[in-house]
Amino acid sequence: MPICEGCGARVDDAHVLRRKERLDLAARFRPIQIKTLLLNAAPPALDGDYFYRPAPDHSTRSVAARVYFEELVKCSGPVSSQIDELRSLNDFRQRGFFLIHAVECPIENPGELHNAMRRLAPTVVKRVQYSLLPTYIVPISKPTQDLIRLFGLIGWGDRLVLDKGGPFVESNVRDPKGQPASGSSFGDRIFKALSVLP
Ligand SMILES: [Zn+2]
Repeated sequence: MPICEGCGARVDDAHVLRRKERLDLAARFRPIQIKTLLLNAAPPALDGDYFYRPAPDHSTRSVAARVYFEELVKCSGPVSSQIDELRSLNDFRQRGFFLIHAVECPIENPGELHNAMRRLAPTVVKRVQYSLLPTYIVPISKPTQDLIRLFGLIGWGDRLVLDKGGPFVESNVRDPKGQPASGSSFGDRIFKALSVLP
């Protein structure tokens, strides 16, 4: 069985194909010049929840994925209440935003994810430094904490946009009206942090 370049696991052909499909979907929405790179740990387990797979009907995503989609798009600017995913993703690209995952395949077990992050971290940093070349890097979710240190080591610390010195972490707890339970949502916080930058 082949070893997957995206996650380092020994996998079957279907796994390799699913990774390729995700990368192809993301490539459709890659800006020519990346201004803001959002860097998360790993994609969601469900194919239909993948950020760059535009759903014809936004409500077909799981609740968590719907909130995540809206929050990410919100980082780049205002979002209309009726979400058209394809249009949102095109706007996201046009505003110079791109999302990547340090581990390119879903890993739900936190321990396994941590190990995969460790193994792949140098590759991710090189990819960002030599291929993606963003102006800003926004780490999202706790497992990206270790990458922050690595970007510091290569002298890219000033390109990091952080939340109190660490990654932006989703707060998915919402009250029934769909508002964040406390404080502002992570999309709003990222938007605010970016708005003061040149
Ligand atoms: Zn993989």
